[in-house]
Amino acid sequence: MSVLDLARPDIRALQPYSSARMEASGGRVLLNANESPLAPFGDEGLGANRYPDPQPAALVGALAALYGVRREQVLVGRGSDEAIDLLVRAFCRAGQDAVLVQPPTFGMYAVCARIQGAAVLEAPLAADFSLDAEALLAAVTPAVKLVFVCAPNNPSGRGVPRATVERLAQALAGRALLVVDEAYVEFADEGSVADLLDRHEHLAVLRTLSKAWALAGARVGALLADPQVIGLLRRILPPYPLPLPCVQAALRALSGEGRAQTAARVAQARAERARMAAALAALPGVRAVLPSQANFLAVRFDDAGDAYRRLLDAGIVVRDVRRYPGLADALRITIGTPEENDRVLDVLASGRNAAGEAALLKGPVLEGRGFAEGPAS
Ligand SMILES: *Cc1c(COP(=O)(O)O)cnc(C)c1O
Repeated sequence: MSVLDLARPDIRALQPYSSARMEASGGRVLLNANESPLAPFGDEGLGANRYPDPQPAALVGALAALYGVRREQVLVGRGSDEAIDLLVRAFCRAGQDAVLVQPPTFGMYAVCARIQGAAVLEAPLAADFSLDAEALLAAVTPAVKLVFVCAPNNPSGRGVPRATVERLAQALAGRALLVVDEAYVEFADEGSVADLLDRHEHLAVLRTLSKAWALAGARVGALLADPQVIGLLRRILPPYPLPLPCVQAALRALSGEGRAQTAARVAQARAERARMAAALAALPGVRAVLPSQANFLAVRFDDAGDAYRRLLDAGIVVRDVRRYPGLADALRITIGTPEENDRVLDVLASGRNAAGEAALLKGPVLEGRGFAEGPAS
């Protein structure tokens, strides 16, 4: 059985839109796409009057090298969020198919599924947020086409052992596509499972430049998967997903110098994570700091609402995750610069803040933000 047998038959049969940039290349006088022949004001050599390459070869090549896969196994899109959406649309028929998620986890899997009209089945994580492969497999019904595993998981921070991913990949072959979201894997002790792709056609891996690579604003993410899956998703990918300035920003970040800087920053974030975990755990009012393999810590408080407000009064916004199952007393705190982290510790150690400082730092935009529902990371 091919992995494509799991996909929507109508998408497999779809005649994709054929853009001018796809149909012809190599010419020097480009009069086929109704673009402006002249660069815009302030262009400075970017060439933004032309539509971008749908899958820029240099970026695909750089990401394939970075992730240790072949170019045909890479689809680049607007963040891994776009890849999640494309997967759901390509594999799930509205009103018939389903995705399987393990709460508490990243919200976009369920949101994309619901927008598509696919059901969302849940196989909750254990009380310690570890993933029980057998419990997950028991929850897979014939309707499930995609199984999302977030590793390390957001918002708990817990990693998923490689052996568990292998067990799932084996057991799900022919039944569902296993999608491992590695948004935070750069911060983890255990590396990526992307090297398993060649052995498991039913495995896909999500990567992003938004976290460790400091490029959340450029919106560049990748799906690593079997070339058949990449080819299928390219049929439904919008014609020109990647803006030129974003591609250039990504290529600069992936240069030799950029890679060295990222490696140093990841090392610092890991060191700060260890420092913060120990310091937070020693504070009064902190019940527990969950072990984390990501660039954030989920922290349990005696009164999480009070801690949230005290931080906000000091101008520090953290994520209120109390609405997630198993985290009703927790906040998720991203690892910042050492100075920012010190501020968090100071505020939480010192009880209530001086009212004057609160008034100075608290902008109206920040009010109430942490309670917003929604999938945002
Ligand atoms: C932040 C995050 C993403 C990232 O998404 P982009 O669209 O690439 O910015 C994906 N998955 C998880 C679990 C995240 O926390």
